[in-house]
Amino acid sequence: MKLFPRLFLGHLLVILVALAALFLMAELTAPSFYRHHVEQMVTLLGPEGRALRPDLENGMRRTLNAALIAAAPFAVLVAVVTAFLTSRRIVQSVQLLSEGSQALAVGRTGQRLPETGRDELAVLARNFNVMASSLERVEQDRVALIGNVGHELRTPLAALRGYAEALTDGVIAPERVSPAIAREVRTMERLASDLSMVSRVEAGQVALQPVTFHARELLMAAAERFEDAYRERQVALTWSEQSGPLAVRADFERSLQVLSNLLTNALRHVPDGGQVTVTACLAGRDVMFAVQDNGSGIPAEHLGRIFERFYRVDPARTRGEGSGVGLTIARGLAEQMGGCLEVKSGPAGSTFRFALPASSGGSP
Ligand code: ADP
Repeated sequence: MKLFPRLFLGHLLVILVALAALFLMAELTAPSFYRHHVEQMVTLLGPEGRALRPDLENGMRRTLNAALIAAAPFAVLVAVVTAFLTSRRIVQSVQLLSEGSQALAVGRTGQRLPETGRDELAVLARNFNVMASSLERVEQDRVALIGNVGHELRTPLAALRGYAEALTDGVIAPERVSPAIAREVRTMERLASDLSMVSRVEAGQVALQPVTFHARELLMAAAERFEDAYRERQVALTWSEQSGPLAVRADFERSLQVLSNLLTNALRHVPDGGQVTVTACLAGRDVMFAVQDNGSGIPAEHLGRIFERFYRVDPARTRGEGSGVGLTIARGLAEQMGGCLEVKSGPAGSTFRFALPASSGGSP
């Protein structure tokens, strides 16, 4: 049987049982109440009253029954209408929910339910809408990701195809073309490894090995890694840290990966002879690393989006330099280690602040 007749018949049954109980209770309990009044009247009327007792009792009983019978149809009508409306509301909500979930199941994530009232059904509809919105976002993300990956692959693949055709036609010597082929293959390899990293970071599946280390150790490791690249471009790289040891509790290699990403980006965006400063200091319960450059800066309208996957401020200028997921990975790693990554930028340059939890146990 369908839900509506089941609910409605259930309500009707309850109404009938309540009605029967009402008549039964009235029959059982009312005489004891009106007998008291009959007794008072009989005493007042004296010996004549005693003869009237059966009539009085019958009169009381008939009055009570007549009142119950007159009131019952109205009460039943109100109860039936209420039962009908309540059952209909419940069934309509369930039907809408069922249609909505069917639509979601076939990928129509734009489906929403009306959120009327404040009862549990309205809460259910609201929760469904929240779930549908987040599914819609995931779906949009998935479509954008496929589009972005396709777009990122198209350029190196087109270049490789061009080189292959040139080699087949014999218009270019293999030794001249091989460095370019190697470069395009490196681009695709980097894209593949960035994609696998970004998916692991977003799924929270990066294995972390938290250790306690000094902020200075991280700064020194990054300095060593970037010394040559910065010197080559004559970019001054300076370091400073708050006096006293700053102990950090995080995965050292992943922290170095985040700092390296910030230093790579800074180097990309400062002019030759520019300046990049890295500082470390205690900020509440965190150790805060700041990478400040005097580069091109990031326009305000792009600032909120640079942590999104594949987002680049100037895709044409940065083509081949990065896959546009460096900051997505960096922020994901920082957050997974219990820290955060933020940016401030203006025409005079950008500052990326990367926080990691300070070690509560003090020095390593
Ligand atoms: P990519 O791998 O392309 O560098 P990222 O996710 O690391 O991608 O950075 C996203 C975008 O943010 C970059 O394409 C660049 O436009 C901008 N950006 C990042 N760091 C800086 C910086 N220090 N100065 C100016 N722009 C930056």
